[in-house]
Amino acid sequence: MTSTNEIRRSFLDYFGAAGHEIVPSAPLVPFNDPTLMFTNAGMVPFKNVFTGLETRATKRATSSQKCVRAGGKHNDLDNVGYTARHHTFFEMLGNFSFGDYFKEQAITHAWTLLTREWGLPKDKLLVTVYHTDDEAFGLWQKIAGLSDDRIIRIPTSDNFWSMGDTGPCGPCSEIFYDHGDHIFGGPPGSPDEDGDRFIEIWNLVFMQFEQAADGTRTNLPSPSIDTGMGIERVAAVLQGQHDNYDTDTFRALIAASESLTGTKAEGESRASHRVIADHLRSSSFLLADGVLPSNEGRGYVLRRIMRRAMRHAHLLGAKEPLMHRLVGSLVTEMGQAFPELGRAQPLVEETLLREEVQFRRTLANGLKLLDEEAGHLGEGDSLPGATAFRLYDTFGFPYDLTEDALRARGVSVDRAGFEAAMAQQKAAARAAWKGSGQTADSEVWFDIAEREGATEFTGYTANIGEGVV
Ligand code: ATP
Ligand code: MG
Ligand code: MG
Ligand code: MG
Repeated sequence: MTSTNEIRRSFLDYFGAAGHEIVPSAPLVPFNDPTLMFTNAGMVPFKNVFTGLETRATKRATSSQKCVRAGGKHNDLDNVGYTARHHTFFEMLGNFSFGDYFKEQAITHAWTLLTREWGLPKDKLLVTVYHTDDEAFGLWQKIAGLSDDRIIRIPTSDNFWSMGDTGPCGPCSEIFYDHGDHIFGGPPGSPDEDGDRFIEIWNLVFMQFEQAADGTRTNLPSPSIDTGMGIERVAAVLQGQHDNYDTDTFRALIAASESLTGTKAEGESRASHRVIADHLRSSSFLLADGVLPSNEGRGYVLRRIMRRAMRHAHLLGAKEPLMHRLVGSLVTEMGQAFPELGRAQPLVEETLLREEVQFRRTLANGLKLLDEEAGHLGEGDSLPGATAFRLYDTFGFPYDLTEDALRARGVSVDRAGFEAAMAQQKAAARAAWKGSGQTADSEVWFDIAEREGATEFTGYTANIGEGVV
């Protein structure tokens, strides 16, 4: 079996041999884009090269980039544990051309690597192109010899990439693997495309245009290439598995949580083990890159991920904090490729332990309340926003944790009600503060608290349990 570590090596070696500089993964906190919460694609560290702000010594690069998609524009948090292909943390393998080669070579490389180097059967692969991109359509015919019905024209933004409202943009072409008709799902562009039969493994972006503020597009003088392939998805294919969670890395992590909890990843426990393995990876890598749990911004996304995993540990019957005891297995699996993980191991373990001890103090009571309030609700019902807010305010349950807890029973949460309750509490706290006869300074303070998130805000209200406001 080809291990995930071997696949990463093989990808980087292939593109290294084809004249690409092998670039180590950048941190998960983007150094070049304050508007982006986490690095969420392989091209992120190269943004300024694509826009021309920065030049590199080499015009070709390849990397296996750490990515987190758990907030902002790309948020896969709710998919985790429930689809075969989504993680909050994953690695994106990529090859990049900065104004050097373009479509023909990008397609040739992708096809050669997949079918010659890695030996994937042609009849399991199909591709999409942007509906007007006749050039890409013709190249797939010519290079891969794919029949017309295996080159699907897609008219939506799924196959048109842009960096932002202005800047480089262009059509893209995605490569899908057909896992077989025993799995539900239709080909891309069909009504059942969200199923898990046809899984997108690789996206080739052809940066061809420059978009101006008024929306007009002009041809870039030297078009560029950006590609991204999820290592976990291609590992599943190369290891003869359908599901990312059945690959070597995830099996090792799930075996560890099975043994520590004395439960099997089957039936009702299946999603819990998956969520724990996934969230262990995202939490540990975020901590290793310097993010710490807090009540605002990146730190709050991290805290939400950690607490969600911790609820699942509790569901599996863990009587003691669990997450920190899994870090060793993760370092065994991924520490060689990402040495920062091993270096940060003590910090990661300590932070996970501290957070789990703290959260477990209120977790059981919160779940009891949830049971009382939602016990009678069934499929299609909705939990009142005020209850979700109490869970948040008093028991430190992030909103999405409550949602996740009710999901298995088909119960949703009234988000508008939750937000209204939150706004009301803020207004009440503000009024109380004003009533204490403070001067204009307090106004400034509240504005800062709201802008920065409410970490400091908690000290001034009476009934905050875990201080998550
Ligand atoms: P999908 O449609 O399956 O959500 P995507 O179109 O959002 O994927 P891209 O933004 O094109 O994904 O990212 C490039 C590649 O990264 C994808 O082809 C896939 O292999 C991988 N990838 C994207 N999101 C995830 C994720 N949440 N977990 C694991 N791999 C992912
Ligand atoms: Mg997606
Ligand atoms: Mg897609
Ligand atoms: Mg895609």
